[in-house]
Amino acid sequence: MRYLSTRGGVEPVDFADAVMMGLGTDGGLLVPERIPSLSADTLKAWSQLSFQELAVEVLSPFVGDSIPHADLVDLVERSYATFLHPEVTPLAEHGGRQWLELFHGPTAAFKDVALQLLGNLFEYLIAREGGVLRILGATSGDTGSAAIYGVRGKAGIDIFILHPKGRVSPIQERQMTTVLDANVHNIAVLGTFDDAQRIVKTLFNDLPFKQRYRLGAVNSINLARILAQTIYYFYAWGRISGGDPEHRISFSVPTGNFGDVFAGWLAKRMGLPIDRLIIATNRNDILSRFVASGVYQAGEVFQTLSPAMDIQLASNFERYLYYLLDEDPAAVRALLAELEQTGQLQVDGERQRRVAEDFDARAVSDAETLAEIRRVYEISGYILCPHTAVGARAAADQAEAEVVVLATAHPAKFDAAVVEAIGIEPAPPRALQGLLERETRCAELPADADAVSAFMRETLDAVEA
Ligand SMILES: *Cc1c(COP(=O)(O)O)cnc(C)c1O
Repeated sequence: MRYLSTRGGVEPVDFADAVMMGLGTDGGLLVPERIPSLSADTLKAWSQLSFQELAVEVLSPFVGDSIPHADLVDLVERSYATFLHPEVTPLAEHGGRQWLELFHGPTAAFKDVALQLLGNLFEYLIAREGGVLRILGATSGDTGSAAIYGVRGKAGIDIFILHPKGRVSPIQERQMTTVLDANVHNIAVLGTFDDAQRIVKTLFNDLPFKQRYRLGAVNSINLARILAQTIYYFYAWGRISGGDPEHRISFSVPTGNFGDVFAGWLAKRMGLPIDRLIIATNRNDILSRFVASGVYQAGEVFQTLSPAMDIQLASNFERYLYYLLDEDPAAVRALLAELEQTGQLQVDGERQRRVAEDFDARAVSDAETLAEIRRVYEISGYILCPHTAVGARAAADQAEAEVVVLATAHPAKFDAAVVEAIGIEPAPPRALQGLLERETRCAELPADADAVSAFMRETLDAVEA
């Protein structure tokens, strides 16, 4: 399988190069040159597999001959051995609904499903092809810890994660700073998340620095993250349907960057019998507005109780746009130019109808999020994290369909919202226990790109010496 850019400016690359490239060198996102199509017999056979066996089958056509089969099996085994549940992403039934629990990984949120695999892929490809990788990112909470856990202790990789000092939750801060592996470098910036993000952008734009130190990113645009996230859609369908191709199910997906729900769309395009895909957003509703109107227009970013979805421009949206525009890079470039110049883009009526066939969407307020946590707790005793509650509230509108809600984080990770809703502190899972007592390591720097680059140079020059 080869990969192309949504903007048409990248020579086709294989899976290994696509993973290492991350963002396309032309600024576009990488997409497979064709989407594999699965037969009913294949889907039936897959419905009997374990999560790990299924992962190998789902990934194989995308990996192609880039990685030998035995090595892929080993990568998958190691990536999901860090999950605390034997099924990796089990289904749980509470209050008359199926929840797809994606939070049994080392940081108790769904990003582990993709980042545990990505970290191992990076290490494997670096060992095979030589070189080093230095990951630089800014986090307002969830992604930083999942990225750190993905690459901790991995040979050939260093990771620098900036967070705004005192402005991430104490659990999230400890999840990052208690990782003491020599290749993990936490930096608490004396400023806001926007300051941290601006510093990262400045350093990526400093091309001599970027090239000298081989800087890369692990944001949600890496193709391998999307592919890893398709696995659990297949898994959930197999467990529920037993492989019956007539049995269609729907998914409600709490989303901000359009990553998770795009993975579901891809699974459906591959032939998985999905009925409805529900885009569940919080008050940051650019995606719901797009589904309703065909207009994609960024607004102001609001802080909500589901902070991992406080995003306006969704970085994976461009992948969907590429398919919506019939895989025409010139059309993608034209619409993105429109967005850049006018602050919005609009698709035509025919395409708007296709969007409405692909997705339902619902924006959920903080008040509704709290009410949903309360409602589900009262009828079943099951405690939702606020992101999952957004998905649950959006699913409640679909009376007809059998809807599985993606449970994207453990409620103990977002305990303030849970306490506000039901007055109960959720018991932490094993991954979050004892964090406050552990030793930490973290550099503290002013919100200044020069200070951060000096710290990185010093650290990396010492590694190289
Ligand atoms: C990142 C995150 C989301 C949103 O995921 P997308 O990639 O934006 O679809 C939802 N819930 C939690 C807990 C997250 O960490």
